[in-house]
Amino acid sequence: LRERHLRIKSRELKRLVLERTQELEDSRAQLRVQANHDGLTGMLNRTAILRALTTEMERAQREQRNLVIALADIDFFKHVNDTHGHLAGDEALRVFAAAVAKAIRPYDHAGRYGGEEFLLVLSQIPGEAVEERLNSLQRSISNLQVESAGSQFQLNCSIGATVFNPSNSDGAATVESLLTTTDKALYMAKAEGRNRVVLRPSGSHSA
Ligand code: GH3
Ligand code: MG
Ligand code: MG
Repeated sequence: LRERHLRIKSRELKRLVLERTQELEDSRAQLRVQANHDGLTGMLNRTAILRALTTEMERAQREQRNLVIALADIDFFKHVNDTHGHLAGDEALRVFAAAVAKAIRPYDHAGRYGGEEFLLVLSQIPGEAVEERLNSLQRSISNLQVESAGSQFQLNCSIGATVFNPSNSDGAATVESLLTTTDKALYMAKAEGRNRVVLRPSGSHSA
Protein backbone atom coordinates (compact mmCIF):
# COMPACT_ATOMS: atom_id res chain seq x y z
CA LEU A 1 0.00 0.00 0.00
CA ARG A 2 2.86 2.32 0.98
CA GLU A 3 4.64 1.64 -2.33
CA ARG A 4 1.51 2.37 -4.30
CA HIS A 5 1.09 5.57 -2.39
CA LEU A 6 4.69 6.59 -3.21
CA ARG A 7 4.18 5.82 -6.91
CA ILE A 8 1.12 8.04 -7.03
CA LYS A 9 2.95 10.80 -5.17
CA SER A 10 5.88 10.63 -7.59
CA ARG A 11 3.60 10.73 -10.63
CA GLU A 12 1.84 13.72 -9.14
CA LEU A 13 5.18 15.48 -8.57
CA LYS A 14 6.29 14.84 -12.14
CA ARG A 15 3.06 16.30 -13.46
CA LEU A 16 3.50 19.35 -11.29
CA VAL A 17 7.08 19.91 -12.46
CA LEU A 18 5.99 19.61 -16.11
CA GLU A 19 3.16 22.05 -15.52
CA ARG A 20 5.44 24.61 -13.84
CA THR A 21 8.06 24.26 -16.59
CA GLN A 22 5.41 24.93 -19.22
CA GLU A 23 4.17 27.96 -17.30
CA LEU A 24 7.72 29.31 -17.08
CA GLU A 25 8.25 28.79 -20.81
CA ASP A 26 4.97 30.53 -21.60
CA SER A 27 5.80 33.57 -19.50
CA ARG A 28 9.30 33.74 -20.99
CA ALA A 29 7.79 33.71 -24.48
CA GLN A 30 5.34 36.38 -23.38
CA LEU A 31 8.19 38.51 -22.03
CA ARG A 32 10.05 38.12 -25.31
CA VAL A 33 7.01 39.38 -27.23
CA GLN A 34 6.57 42.27 -24.79
CA ALA A 35 10.25 43.21 -25.11
CA ASN A 36 10.04 43.50 -28.90
CA HIS A 37 6.53 44.78 -29.50
CA ASP A 38 4.56 47.93 -28.87
CA GLY A 39 1.76 47.39 -26.38
CA LEU A 40 -0.84 49.52 -28.17
CA THR A 41 -0.44 48.45 -31.80
CA GLY A 42 1.26 45.08 -31.48
CA MET A 43 3.89 46.23 -33.97
CA LEU A 44 7.63 45.95 -33.44
CA ASN A 45 8.77 48.62 -30.99
CA ARG A 46 11.46 51.20 -31.66
CA THR A 47 14.33 49.05 -30.42
CA ALA A 48 13.21 46.05 -32.44
CA ILE A 49 12.62 47.92 -35.71
CA LEU A 50 16.02 49.62 -35.41
CA ARG A 51 17.59 46.21 -34.87
CA ALA A 52 15.80 44.98 -38.01
CA LEU A 53 17.09 47.98 -39.95
CA THR A 54 20.67 47.28 -38.85
CA THR A 55 20.38 43.61 -39.81
CA GLU A 56 18.84 44.43 -43.21
CA MET A 57 21.51 47.05 -43.93
CA GLU A 58 24.21 44.47 -43.25
CA ARG A 59 22.44 41.97 -45.48
CA ALA A 60 22.01 44.55 -48.25
CA GLN A 61 25.72 45.34 -48.03
CA ARG A 62 26.66 41.65 -48.10
CA GLU A 63 24.39 40.83 -51.03
CA GLN A 64 24.90 44.14 -52.82
CA ARG A 65 21.19 44.78 -52.94
CA ASN A 66 19.28 47.94 -52.26
CA LEU A 67 17.09 48.61 -49.27
CA VAL A 68 14.20 51.05 -48.92
CA ILE A 69 13.72 52.90 -45.63
CA ALA A 70 10.48 54.79 -45.10
CA LEU A 71 8.94 56.82 -42.29
CA ALA A 72 5.14 56.97 -42.38
CA ASP A 73 3.62 59.66 -40.17
CA ILE A 74 -0.11 60.17 -39.64
CA ASP A 75 -1.30 63.59 -40.83
CA PHE A 76 -2.83 66.04 -38.34
CA PHE A 77 -2.93 63.42 -35.61
CA LYS A 78 -2.97 66.00 -32.85
CA HIS A 79 -6.25 67.21 -34.34
CA VAL A 80 -7.67 63.67 -34.01
CA ASN A 81 -6.88 63.66 -30.29
CA ASP A 82 -8.12 67.21 -29.80
CA THR A 83 -11.38 66.64 -31.67
CA HIS A 84 -12.30 63.04 -30.90
CA GLY A 85 -10.36 62.34 -27.71
CA HIS A 86 -7.30 60.32 -26.78
CA LEU A 87 -9.10 56.95 -26.89
CA ALA A 88 -10.18 57.62 -30.47
CA GLY A 89 -6.55 58.52 -31.17
CA ASP A 90 -5.46 55.17 -29.75
CA GLU A 91 -8.01 53.36 -31.91
CA ALA A 92 -6.74 55.30 -34.94
CA LEU A 93 -3.21 54.07 -34.19
CA ARG A 94 -4.44 50.47 -34.09
CA VAL A 95 -6.33 50.89 -37.37
CA PHE A 96 -3.28 52.46 -38.98
CA ALA A 97 -0.94 49.72 -37.71
CA ALA A 98 -3.30 47.02 -39.02
CA ALA A 99 -3.35 48.68 -42.45
CA VAL A 100 0.45 48.84 -42.49
CA ALA A 101 0.75 45.18 -41.48
CA LYS A 102 -1.64 44.24 -44.30
CA ALA A 103 0.14 46.38 -46.89
CA ILE A 104 3.66 45.03 -46.43
CA ARG A 105 5.10 41.71 -47.58
CA PRO A 106 6.23 38.91 -45.24
CA TYR A 107 9.90 39.84 -45.60
CA ASP A 108 9.34 43.56 -44.89
CA HIS A 109 9.59 45.03 -41.41
CA ALA A 110 7.45 47.71 -39.80
CA GLY A 111 7.62 49.17 -36.31
CA ARG A 112 6.34 52.00 -34.18
CA TYR A 113 9.21 54.45 -34.27
CA GLY A 114 7.51 57.19 -32.25
CA GLY A 115 4.02 58.31 -31.24
CA GLU A 116 2.28 58.31 -34.65
CA GLU A 117 5.34 57.60 -36.74
CA PHE A 118 6.13 54.20 -38.20
CA LEU A 119 9.42 52.99 -39.65
CA LEU A 120 9.30 50.62 -42.62
CA VAL A 121 12.23 48.57 -43.91
CA LEU A 122 11.54 47.13 -47.37
CA SER A 123 13.92 44.89 -49.24
CA GLN A 124 13.88 43.26 -52.66
CA ILE A 125 12.37 46.11 -54.63
CA PRO A 126 14.07 46.71 -57.99
CA GLY A 127 15.41 50.28 -58.23
CA GLU A 128 12.99 51.33 -60.97
CA ALA A 129 9.98 50.01 -59.01
CA VAL A 130 10.67 51.82 -55.73
CA GLU A 131 8.67 54.96 -56.44
CA GLU A 132 5.56 53.11 -57.63
CA ARG A 133 5.78 50.65 -54.72
CA LEU A 134 5.93 53.49 -52.19
CA ASN A 135 3.02 55.32 -53.82
CA SER A 136 0.90 52.20 -53.78
CA LEU A 137 1.88 51.55 -50.15
CA GLN A 138 0.91 55.12 -49.26
CA ARG A 139 -2.48 54.65 -50.93
CA SER A 140 -3.05 51.45 -48.93
CA ILE A 141 -2.45 53.21 -45.63
CA SER A 142 -4.38 56.40 -46.38
CA ASN A 143 -8.07 57.24 -46.54
CA LEU A 144 -8.56 54.92 -43.58
CA GLN A 145 -11.92 55.16 -41.88
CA VAL A 146 -11.84 55.08 -38.11
CA GLU A 147 -14.82 54.67 -35.82
CA SER A 148 -14.55 55.12 -32.10
CA ALA A 149 -17.13 55.85 -29.41
CA GLY A 150 -19.60 57.39 -31.82
CA SER A 151 -17.19 59.54 -33.78
CA GLN A 152 -16.07 58.75 -37.27
CA PHE A 153 -13.12 60.24 -39.09
CA GLN A 154 -10.58 59.65 -41.84
CA LEU A 155 -6.85 59.11 -41.52
CA ASN A 156 -4.14 60.05 -44.02
CA CYS A 157 -0.40 59.78 -43.80
CA SER A 158 2.76 61.19 -45.30
CA ILE A 159 5.79 59.10 -46.18
CA GLY A 160 9.42 60.14 -46.36
CA ALA A 161 11.68 57.54 -47.89
CA THR A 162 15.12 56.85 -49.22
CA VAL A 163 17.07 54.04 -50.85
CA PHE A 164 20.24 52.55 -49.46
CA ASN A 165 22.20 51.27 -52.43
CA PRO A 166 25.51 49.70 -51.36
CA SER A 167 26.76 49.47 -54.93
CA ASN A 168 26.31 53.22 -55.37
CA SER A 169 28.08 55.79 -53.26
CA ASP A 170 26.22 54.70 -50.13
CA GLY A 171 29.08 52.65 -48.70
CA ALA A 172 29.63 55.14 -45.88
CA ALA A 173 25.96 55.42 -44.96
CA THR A 174 24.99 54.46 -41.42
CA VAL A 175 21.67 53.72 -39.73
CA GLU A 176 21.78 57.29 -38.40
CA SER A 177 22.51 58.92 -41.76
CA LEU A 178 19.75 56.90 -43.44
CA LEU A 179 17.27 57.95 -40.76
CA THR A 180 18.33 61.57 -41.14
CA THR A 181 17.69 61.45 -44.89
CA THR A 182 14.35 59.71 -44.36
CA ASP A 183 13.35 62.29 -41.78
CA LYS A 184 14.22 65.13 -44.20
CA ALA A 185 12.08 63.47 -46.87
CA LEU A 186 9.18 63.20 -44.40
CA TYR A 187 9.57 66.85 -43.52
CA MET A 188 9.36 67.70 -47.23
CA ALA A 189 6.24 65.53 -47.67
CA LYS A 190 4.57 67.46 -44.85
CA ALA A 191 5.71 70.83 -46.21
CA GLU A 192 4.49 70.00 -49.73
CA GLY A 193 0.96 69.44 -48.44
CA ARG A 194 0.91 66.00 -46.72
CA ASN A 195 -0.89 62.80 -47.84
CA ARG A 196 1.99 62.00 -50.23
CA VAL A 197 5.39 60.34 -50.65
CA VAL A 198 8.72 62.13 -50.96
CA LEU A 199 11.57 59.88 -52.04
CA ARG A 200 15.17 61.04 -51.63
CA PRO A 201 17.53 59.19 -53.97
CA SER A 202 20.32 56.91 -52.81
CA GLY A 203 23.64 58.65 -52.54
CA SER A 204 22.16 61.56 -50.59
CA HIS A 205 23.13 60.27 -47.16
CA SER A 206 26.79 59.38 -46.90
CA ALA A 207 27.92 60.14 -43.34
P1 GH3 B 1 1.62 66.43 -38.86
O1 GH3 B 1 0.56 66.35 -39.89
O2 GH3 B 1 2.59 67.52 -39.14
O3 GH3 B 1 2.29 65.12 -38.64
O4 GH3 B 1 0.89 66.86 -37.50
P2 GH3 B 1 0.49 65.94 -36.27
O5 GH3 B 1 -0.60 66.62 -35.54
O6 GH3 B 1 0.21 64.55 -36.76
O7 GH3 B 1 1.84 65.87 -35.46
P3 GH3 B 1 2.21 66.35 -33.99
O8 GH3 B 1 3.62 65.89 -33.81
O9 GH3 B 1 1.91 67.80 -33.81
O10 GH3 B 1 1.24 65.56 -33.02
C1 GH3 B 1 1.39 64.19 -32.80
C2 GH3 B 1 0.42 63.82 -31.71
O11 GH3 B 1 0.39 62.41 -31.49
C3 GH3 B 1 0.73 64.43 -30.37
C4 GH3 B 1 0.58 63.31 -29.38
O12 GH3 B 1 -0.23 63.65 -28.31
C5 GH3 B 1 -0.07 62.21 -30.18
N1 GH3 B 1 0.27 60.86 -29.72
C6 GH3 B 1 1.49 60.28 -29.61
N2 GH3 B 1 1.39 59.05 -29.14
C7 GH3 B 1 0.07 58.78 -28.92
C8 GH3 B 1 -0.67 57.66 -28.43
O13 GH3 B 1 -0.13 56.60 -28.09
N3 GH3 B 1 -2.04 57.78 -28.37
C9 GH3 B 1 -2.67 58.95 -28.74
N4 GH3 B 1 -4.00 58.99 -28.65
N5 GH3 B 1 -2.00 60.02 -29.19
C10 GH3 B 1 -0.65 59.95 -29.29
MG1 MG C 1 1.79 63.42 -37.64
MG1 MG D 1 5.09 62.76 -35.93
